Amino acid sequence: MECKKIYLENMDCLQSTAVVLACESRKDGLFDLITDRTPLFPEGGGQRSDRGTVNGAAIVHCREEKGTVIHTAAAPFAVGETVEITVDAALRRLHTQQHTGEHMLSYAYQHLFGATNIGFHMSEDVVTIDLDRMLTAEEIEAGETYANEMVEADLPVTISIVDGETAADLPLRKRNDKLTEGIRIVAIGDGEMCTCCGTHFTHTAPVGMIKVLEYGKYKQGCRVTFVCGALARKWFRMENSELRRTAAKLSVKPEGVYDALLRKEEQITELHLQLRRKNAQMAELYTAKLEQTARMRDSCRIVAGFVPVDVDAAKQIAERLCADRTTVTVLFCEDGPRMRYFCLAGEACPVSCRDIAMQINKALNAKGGGSPKTAQGSFEKTDEAQLQAFADTL
Ligand SMILES: [Zn+2]
Repeated sequence: MECKKIYLENMDCLQSTAVVLACESRKDGLFDLITDRTPLFPEGGGQRSDRGTVNGAAIVHCREEKGTVIHTAAAPFAVGETVEITVDAALRRLHTQQHTGEHMLSYAYQHLFGATNIGFHMSEDVVTIDLDRMLTAEEIEAGETYANEMVEADLPVTISIVDGETAADLPLRKRNDKLTEGIRIVAIGDGEMCTCCGTHFTHTAPVGMIKVLEYGKYKQGCRVTFVCGALARKWFRMENSELRRTAAKLSVKPEGVYDALLRKEEQITELHLQLRRKNAQMAELYTAKLEQTARMRDSCRIVAGFVPVDVDAAKQIAERLCADRTTVTVLFCEDGPRMRYFCLAGEACPVSCRDIAMQINKALNAKGGGSPKTAQGSFEKTDEAQLQAFADTL
């Protein structure tokens, strides 16, 4: 079925009457609609599909199959019916902005550094191009500057249709050798020239800013992620807002955020060291105190009780107490919103930590376990006095 693609000849035409050639229901409840003409651009060549309406019903997507454009419509239409198809103008403009910008950025990297575009993809938020070789940070920036200068020069974007013979003689950045006639050539100023079926502005200025967000190694070359015009504004607003509220939180200017974070990192490292030293002191004090509560259980010494220290210090205390090969240590401490227990047995101690863990799990509704020499677990916060009373029964 022949469908006239109005967008190829007149990108400014955003509305058209059309005659329904076919309409079939889909499994998802929507309808595949084919008309004799359409102003909607179908997904292709990296550019996203237009959206729009047909007699007021939504067209959520368009695809091209065997030269025919198939609209995914929200309502059914009768074959032979005349309908009004309208393009979502804001979305078309956004896609055209990204696509026209992509031509210039790709041209800049090839013109300046001989890096060829071998892939192009447009998502809702960003656009990516894949280049056949890795570029340096300086080259990425220089290409971005060059492409923006093309935008600012408001160069004309021209479309021409040529045959294969003519196309073969043109200095095309990208060519499709399979095509022999009706080849659509897009040229920008007297530099960029390639075969393309996408939508473009007639001049470069409406592209607005072209901004590279990031780049990195991809296969043998690199992937450049960028945004143009309205998408660039959206990204700038988001990143600027994040940066400024982070700067305010750190009480520094936006340009000082990174250094401020480095200083915070150093402070945290120093505080961790101080905490380790304090914990070692606490462990020493509590070890001496708990030593005095040691009693005999079976043929070894047992030390069991609640310690008002953090998990790290409690572990240190247990290790110190069990330096005595015949001691088994059972300690309880707070751990955020819950409590923890640690059980550690000295090398020559015949008591199994695993058995003690099972006893604790049952009595305190705790979750945990371990081996004969070490066990641990956690449970809901319990009154310290009750916990000590339980510890005395172990
Ligand atoms: Zn194009």
